[in-house]
Amino acid sequence: MDKESEILERLRGMRAGDPKFEDGKILSSVSTKPLGIAIEAFKIFADTNALDTHIFSKVEELEKECIGWIGNLLHNRLARGYITTGGTEANIFALWVMRENSKKRQIIVPRSAHYSVERAANLLGLEIIPAALDENFKADAGDIERNINENTLGIVLTAGTSALGAVDPVEDVSDLISNSGEKIFLHVDAAFGGFIIPFLKPGIRFDFELENVTSITIDPHKMGMAPIPSGAVLLKNDSLLDKITISPPYLPFKTNTLSGTRSGGAIAATYATLNYIGVDGYEKIVGGCMENTKLLCSELSKLDCVEKAAEPELNIVGIMVSGSDNSEIVKKLGKRGWKVSLNEKPKCIRVVVMPHTSRENILCFIDDLRECTG
Ligand code: PLP
Repeated sequence: MDKESEILERLRGMRAGDPKFEDGKILSSVSTKPLGIAIEAFKIFADTNALDTHIFSKVEELEKECIGWIGNLLHNRLARGYITTGGTEANIFALWVMRENSKKRQIIVPRSAHYSVERAANLLGLEIIPAALDENFKADAGDIERNINENTLGIVLTAGTSALGAVDPVEDVSDLISNSGEKIFLHVDAAFGGFIIPFLKPGIRFDFELENVTSITIDPHKMGMAPIPSGAVLLKNDSLLDKITISPPYLPFKTNTLSGTRSGGAIAATYATLNYIGVDGYEKIVGGCMENTKLLCSELSKLDCVEKAAEPELNIVGIMVSGSDNSEIVKKLGKRGWKVSLNEKPKCIRVVVMPHTSRENILCFIDDLRECTG
């Protein structure tokens, strides 16, 4: 066997050792199987670097089109931003932009925020003022209001929390900011929910249509179905970028991204995914995921000793099994091939109903759950 075949054979073997999305048993991933057209697009641009805009001007063009597409979806065609490696980089970037545009250093962060927000605060020397959650695990707007003061730099809300897919009350908090008389940034981490909420009927207001939202994280590589790595960060307007724009002393362009070298392949793949699926396609995909989430909930209601942690707004369900150790149940389900995760607060089994999860997969999961809890 020649060297190329040998390497590829080993790689195929390694990949076969991990689960496939097509099997429908992955219930704890917020990413899914990318489309064939996206992989093709990635290949076409695999040798390009989005940093080098003086060489790869077409990648820059494609990235602007992706940001324009997403900006449109989020009610702001003038929003500026870029394709990041994911939600973590997008959140760090958004908080960095806030910090560079103000002298204040406190941020109010509900306890359900993704851990990347704490990391970002740590890196940037920002002080987190934690905010309480209500009984549905959403940010408590009253507690946020009590914590706003003249030192408040910004507020970080989540539209689709990592644990339970809860959507924080962005509209209420935006109104609070208007009434506070303070200049406060409002970052919405919609890494997960950004490609779901705009397609729900009735919708939930969470984006730039709300006056005080200044930045949004929204990840194509989650419910946008683009291949990893593809996150996105959008700012309300480009004036926020001035403070972080630099001219590298050895290159003929300005840059305002956090990372240097960036994959042109990921941008092309994102472009292909957004345009191939389109708004109508996302509406159908999200509709299907929400249908299957409802099916999961109605089947769960037939099981004794099982309760939902909260009524799901998006396609994540927290399952609480009374009278059993939930971690033991996760292990038992694991032995049957199910990839589910255990959430700490509230303690529950977390199930994410992604586009790769079919109706049959849900019914099969319920059968196994019944046996594992019985
Ligand atoms: N924000 C939220 C709400 C998330 O759920 C996640 C990941 O699941 C992130 C940010 C981080 O995204 P990434 O893992 O792409 O860096």
